[in-house]
Amino acid sequence: MIYSKEQARLNLIAAVRLIGKHFALKYDPDQPRDEAGRWSDEGGGGGGDNQSGASSGGSGGGSGLSKTSPERVKAIANETGISDDKIRILPNGERINARGDSVLADYNQATGEITVYKIAMEEDEQTVKGILSHEYTHSVYDTCWNAREAEYSLSDLRYDFKDKYGKEFTSVLYNLDGISDYSKYIFESATDQHLKFKETIAEVGRLYSSGQKDSIPDEWKYYYEGINKVYGTIKK
Ligand SMILES: [Zn+2]
Repeated sequence: MIYSKEQARLNLIAAVRLIGKHFALKYDPDQPRDEAGRWSDEGGGGGGDNQSGASSGGSGGGSGLSKTSPERVKAIANETGISDDKIRILPNGERINARGDSVLADYNQATGEITVYKIAMEEDEQTVKGILSHEYTHSVYDTCWNAREAEYSLSDLRYDFKDKYGKEFTSVLYNLDGISDYSKYIFESATDQHLKFKETIAEVGRLYSSGQKDSIPDEWKYYYEGINKVYGTIKK
């Protein structure tokens, strides 16, 4: 479904409004917006690539058995919304990150490409779906974040929210860090604030796809849904 820009704006406002509501804060939609300094130029966050949940908890011993074939990975990627030109499946590929973990998959911020490594194919289909949803959410978030054509950007939201509630809504979300083990880990170990945010929203995507939606705090849910609605307006 493609929304108009105006609908995207309304959807995002609704999402943030719900976050505010959760805190029993007052939101006045008619309050005039200050046009000056609206656009923030801090986009991108510069933080290199966004790798997914790295070493999946139990992958230690590594039976090496392929539970999900490359063909199935591709089919699941397509179901998730990832097009053929954006998925790279490496049945023999391996990447070790700076922490020494074998990476399951990663998302290239520059090209929008998602790479799936051998170790991910040792997981069952449900887990693979979650991994791909995590990476796909990175691309959705990035697209929204970078979309200058969207009338109402994520930066706008942060500042509007701050005007109304005295703090950026990202700081509200930062207080709800531990939505998954990986998210918790990133929050404890990373120094890049935007990276923490991006990894957690990607984890929301993973939890949504694997039927664990109920475990996500409402604020993150509203924000995730808002982003996806905006994505509908800029995806072509
Ligand atoms: Zn990630």
